[in-house]
Formats: sequence, structure tokens, C-alpha cells
Amino acid sequence: KQDPRIEGIAASIRVVPDFPKKGIMFQDITTLLLDPKTFKNTVDLFVERYLGKDISVVAGIEARGFIFGPPIALAIGAKFIPLRKPRKLPGEVISEKYVLEYGTDCLEMHVGAVQPGDHALVVDDLIATGGTLCAAMNLLERAGAEVVECACVIELPELKGREKLNGKPLYILVESR
Ligand code: AMP
Repeated sequence: KQDPRIEGIAASIRVVPDFPKKGIMFQDITTLLLDPKTFKNTVDLFVERYLGKDISVVAGIEARGFIFGPPIALAIGAKFIPLRKPRKLPGEVISEKYVLEYGTDCLEMHVGAVQPGDHALVVDDLIATGGTLCAAMNLLERAGAEVVECACVIELPELKGREKLNGKPLYILVESR
């Protein structure tokens, strides 16, 4: 049986066809943020899943992982680390390139942000092909952290991104197409 809060979350996400280019159905979570109750329900569902689990770090992916990651980290008593696009982090970084539909992109993480023995939760708004989450997990694992799970608000199941996560569990609230 589905949690009654899920329906409200799904209904609050605006779908914008052909943004940022033709053929993409953009899942816009800014409309979810406009309703404090729905935003809180979203964070609460993640917190209820992870509170009391052995998670020492929440890693949020730029940019929309910076919206959902920090309130989860605060509520479960974990540190928050930003995984950012190139040339944003001022300290020493490690980088992980990944393939997009056209071209490549890259995520960076500060050296020293995680230590061997850290248990990490990776947070983003959405999983499409899975390339972004995969790069995020590689960064954390290269630094010696163990990735416990990935968490997103939305999954686009038709793109089969879940299969790219090397068997890591993925927790999502809403499926879209
Ligand atoms: P992917 O690496 O293909 O799984 O893409 C996931 C990343 O791209 C996430 O950071 C999403 O915010 C963004 N993204 C990809 N497709 C969409 C979409 N249809 N609507 C909104 N964001 C998307």
C-alpha cells in the first residue's frame, strides 16, 4: 500500500514538455517547493527511511540535490557534502566524468570531505539514465566511503537508470514517464 503523502508529491511536480530541448519531459520540482506541507512530506519520507540507519554523510548533487539533501542530513544527524559541477569548489578536488546524451559532464568533490569508513547516502531530485548518480557513487567510493543507498524524488523508469547503479539500492518516491 502506498503512503498517502506520495500522491500529493506526485501531483505537485510540474511536467514541462520540450524543456530544455525538444523531446524532454522536464520534471519541475520548484512547484513542489511552493507548498510547504508537500515539501515537508517529501523530506519526512526520506528521514523516516534513514533515521537511525548507519549513515554518516549525505552527498547532494548540484543543483537540486542541494534542496533535498541538507534537510535530510540535519534531521538524521549526518554531515552534508556538495558534489559540484567543475570549477566551483575552491579546495583540492577529485573529479569524475560521465557521459550525457550529447557530450560529457563532470562532478567534483572536495578531498577530505569524506573519510574511509563513512557511510554515504546520495541524494538528487531525479534519476534518468543513471549516469549522474553513478559518477557521484564513484567519487565517494574513490575517497573510501561506502555508499549505502541513492535517494531521488523521481525516477524515469523507461530509461533504466537503476540498472547502471551496479546493484546499489535506489529509493524513489514517484515514477514518471
Ligand atoms: P541522469 O544522469 O541521466 O540520470 O540525469 C539525472 C540528472 O539530470 C539529475 O540531476 C536531474 O536533475 C537531471 N534531469 C535529467 N532528466 C531530467 C528531466 N526529465 N527532468 C528534470 N531533470 C532531469
